[in-house]
Amino acid sequence: PRSGFCKSNSIFYSKRKLCPHPPNHSLDVTTFISSRAHHGKIAFIDASTGRHLTFSDLWRAVDSVATCLADIGVRKGHVILLLSPNSIYFPVVCLAVMSIGAVITTTNPLNTTREIGKQVADSKPILAFTTRQLVPKLAESTLPIVLLDEDEPSQQYVKSAKILTTLSEMLKKQPSERRVRDRVNQDDTATLLYSSGTTGASKGVVGSHKSLIAMIQIVLGRFNLTEGDHRFICTVPMFHIYGLAVFALALLASGTTVVILSKYEMHDMLSAIEKYRITYLPLVPPILVALVNGADQIRSKYDLSSLQSVLSGGAPLSKEVIEGFVERYPTVTILQGYGLTESTGVGASTDSLEESRRYGTAGLLSPDMEGKIVDPESGEALPVNRTGELWLRGRSIMKGYFGNAEATANTLDAEGWLKTGDLCYIDDDGFIFVVDRLKELIKYKGYQVPPAELEALLLTHPEILDAAVIPIPDKEAGQCPMAYVVRKAGSSLSEIAIMEFVAGQVAPYKRIRRVAFTTSIPKNQSGKILRKDLIQLATSKL
Ligand code: AMP
Repeated sequence: PRSGFCKSNSIFYSKRKLCPHPPNHSLDVTTFISSRAHHGKIAFIDASTGRHLTFSDLWRAVDSVATCLADIGVRKGHVILLLSPNSIYFPVVCLAVMSIGAVITTTNPLNTTREIGKQVADSKPILAFTTRQLVPKLAESTLPIVLLDEDEPSQQYVKSAKILTTLSEMLKKQPSERRVRDRVNQDDTATLLYSSGTTGASKGVVGSHKSLIAMIQIVLGRFNLTEGDHRFICTVPMFHIYGLAVFALALLASGTTVVILSKYEMHDMLSAIEKYRITYLPLVPPILVALVNGADQIRSKYDLSSLQSVLSGGAPLSKEVIEGFVERYPTVTILQGYGLTESTGVGASTDSLEESRRYGTAGLLSPDMEGKIVDPESGEALPVNRTGELWLRGRSIMKGYFGNAEATANTLDAEGWLKTGDLCYIDDDGFIFVVDRLKELIKYKGYQVPPAELEALLLTHPEILDAAVIPIPDKEAGQCPMAYVVRKAGSSLSEIAIMEFVAGQVAPYKRIRRVAFTTSIPKNQSGKILRKDLIQLATSKL
């Protein structure tokens, strides 16, 4: 059967139809997108400056940057780092890089020099695009840099950095008719986004042109954007698959405009919704919580009457929050999306208010996606209403982890199933419910916090013998990292000193927010931390 649950092989098939635009298998993602462009309309607006790019400006800019990249020797397979807050030029750089078969890797601008250094060492970019303000974060690398700012490079900020040129110089370049474009196939790598997956530190998720096209077709089918005048606002970070999906979608969807905020700030977001008459607002659950809690004030201060839908994804959304939102914003439809970086951001979604009102559900399987619920102990595939690990299979699934065959083999099986690390069940009607997270990952305000990274850091402290990091629930952030620490004999290291030690070396969203001391960390025979035991212990004490 092509939909529902098939008893003979225990596979759940999607009940949704794929958007009726079959891909041309010879197209790379940039050509796929540009073939549907709407030239006269505005593609992107910068909310703070009002500066904008029409679709014609955008494609000309993409071609100019691609020509410059080819001129300086960037070729198929080369990796380019993009370290930038959201901006109207973020999509330009991504599309230009992918159009010549090179690979884009993005990173959170909040990350520290040390964290970015690790990603640089792993992904080995040959060039970086970054802003003047963020240049110091690349201080430890010798990467040549293209400055994203529009003015001239100034020695003040960029002392030791090797500034090759600026984006504004690149944009002046006449696109070359005879530009040498390496032939790009759908199976070629397009993106290297970083995710910790089910265990360990951050790894490069290898996304192909095919997986991006599959994602675009899936998200395009979710919304009816052909009628009316639609505008998205992008507050979610573009370095994450969520933000990439938002702009890629909008580029394709009938010339829809995306208003871009360089970073999330409640007032800026609400003013931009009012000013630009935004219809679609993609966000993460903590922002939805803030919208519910501040509803009275918000509604008296801002005109949000244009808003038709909020899209929530990246972390679970509670029944209370959905109910609270529906009560306070009755004209706005709330839509959920579930996905992973490893599945190019798609997996399941609710596409109407009725579907979202099945409280707690992450929605129906995305079109063309297959699902399995697997008992983590026995490996047996389970039928409807039984809880186990969700496995996903489809064209949007990653190729693997970059340069990490072991992690790839542990996450993707021989038949192409992606083990999500999420504990779920699927009900009689095909709706997926995420019950818990089997994997180590902590999500603070939707951002990934890999416990293994924090544990490794804690162990570098001379007075720490052993440590384990677990999630604890938090009303505002969803989850927060908490550390259990075993001090060395004679040490009187304090909780605060430990939190400060970590805070000095990690991005703010990875900070440890609570510490407890213990005499030993519970582990199984092979030395794996028994996190569930610690989570239980923490929950009973909190
Ligand atoms: P990321 O790779 O950063 O997108 O993180 C993916 C993980 O976020 C998933 O494996 C889930 O644990 C969690 N997640 C994403 N969307 C949802 C959702 N709608 N409901 C519950 N958890 C979610």
